[in-house]
Amino acid sequence: MKSAKPLLCVHGHFYQPPREDPFTGTYRCEPSAAPFPNWNARVTAECYAPNASAGNFGRISFNLGGTLARWMAEHVPETYQRIVADVSHYAAQYGVGNGMAQAVHHTILPLARGRDKRCQVRWGIASYIHRFGMRPEGIWLPEMAVDYETLETVAEAGLAFVILSGEQVHGDLSYGAGPYLVRLSHGRSINVFVRDRGASDYLSFNMPAPETIRPWANALLAGRPADSLTLIATDGETFGHHHCHGVRVLEELTTPGEADAYEVTTLARYMRQHPPRTEVEIVENTAWSCPHRLGRWATGCQCTPGCGQWKGALRRALDNLAHEIDEIYAEAMRRRNLAPWSLRDEYVRVVLRQVGGAEFLSEYYLGHLSTQAQRSLLDLLEAQVHRQRMFVSCAFFFEDLERIEPRYAIASAVQAMALVSHATGDNLTRAFRRDLSIAVSPGTGRTGAQILDEIMAGANFAESPLGNGKGSFQRSSTRP
Ligand SMILES: [Zn+2]
Repeated sequence: MKSAKPLLCVHGHFYQPPREDPFTGTYRCEPSAAPFPNWNARVTAECYAPNASAGNFGRISFNLGGTLARWMAEHVPETYQRIVADVSHYAAQYGVGNGMAQAVHHTILPLARGRDKRCQVRWGIASYIHRFGMRPEGIWLPEMAVDYETLETVAEAGLAFVILSGEQVHGDLSYGAGPYLVRLSHGRSINVFVRDRGASDYLSFNMPAPETIRPWANALLAGRPADSLTLIATDGETFGHHHCHGVRVLEELTTPGEADAYEVTTLARYMRQHPPRTEVEIVENTAWSCPHRLGRWATGCQCTPGCGQWKGALRRALDNLAHEIDEIYAEAMRRRNLAPWSLRDEYVRVVLRQVGGAEFLSEYYLGHLSTQAQRSLLDLLEAQVHRQRMFVSCAFFFEDLERIEPRYAIASAVQAMALVSHATGDNLTRAFRRDLSIAVSPGTGRTGAQILDEIMAGANFAESPLGNGKGSFQRSSTRP
């Protein structure tokens, strides 16, 4: 059905970096978040809870990062359940949900190998289905970082669309937010919605007063063609956390009346009625929060103050370690006639606690193996979870190696190494420490090797739930 007015979609990217102790899964007290015990609690009070109460999650398009969704489900179940219910209600009303999946560990996908892209996307889809009870149609690319291989992966996984920013796309963008078709190999294609960067940045950085938002939107949209789509996409925390009156702004913006010049919709719903009319090409290795060809997460760039060379050194250390972990893992699985990477993709069911580890192995006809052999395989699979978590984008996003985010990446590496060591006896620590000694904190002058030693000294070694003895870490924190 065609609309007589132009349409507006607001997309919120709701996400928090991992904040739990990677060894125990417990959440630390964060004094900077006072009077709340930690930042998740504070941003919930300012943003997630009031937006849920206002019904905003039932009118916008959004993605909810796994780290945040997990915390909300546990600590603020009423807010979490309201969001899930809003998606169900939306799907019942319009035949399609308004949520989008997210690459599960918020990895910068163009910097990842193909099989890791696939794992991130498939685990993200599985997590979405687990939470919302339906398949997603689109996926949020962390930091909107894109290359063709990422889009191939998304299309191969059966998803229909992603969101990009105008500067990441080449072509005729006269159809507003689109969707636009991007051609891929093997006759595949993917749809891209292009956000209105000016309007998105206006809300992000100059949030207007609630009473002025509809006049602003009317002025923005009045001249645009009937039935065309305009997309505002920004961090969800813009509405309430970064700007305290943002919750009311979002409510006003998404509840236009008869007298207003526009109506609201969401992406999957709009796409059902509006297939792409023209094609565009993407600009590879671009992202919405760094104009330096992914330098922010790869080599260091002017996006963060001071010397960012530690970013390249940390990434090299993690890449080298991942390579070694993968070799050990793949060899062990092939010895059992298992396809290592599709098995890893499937392991998300254990991570989501849909099946137990032993049950999972028995599905692959490994139930006859000794307890010891089963534990080794499960340790190697579990090591892959932590090895995926090492690459969370937040580790590279800020200015200093000493921050909590890079430490989290290194701690995840420690967990992965401990599991590998327990499974096979391989000790990967020495090479990792040598690589990390090249990464130097611009703030303190300490190296990544010193930080590694500190983390290992303080790591909470514990009996694993499988009872496999000393030297193995708890598995309590390994949900995506
Ligand atoms: Zn940059």
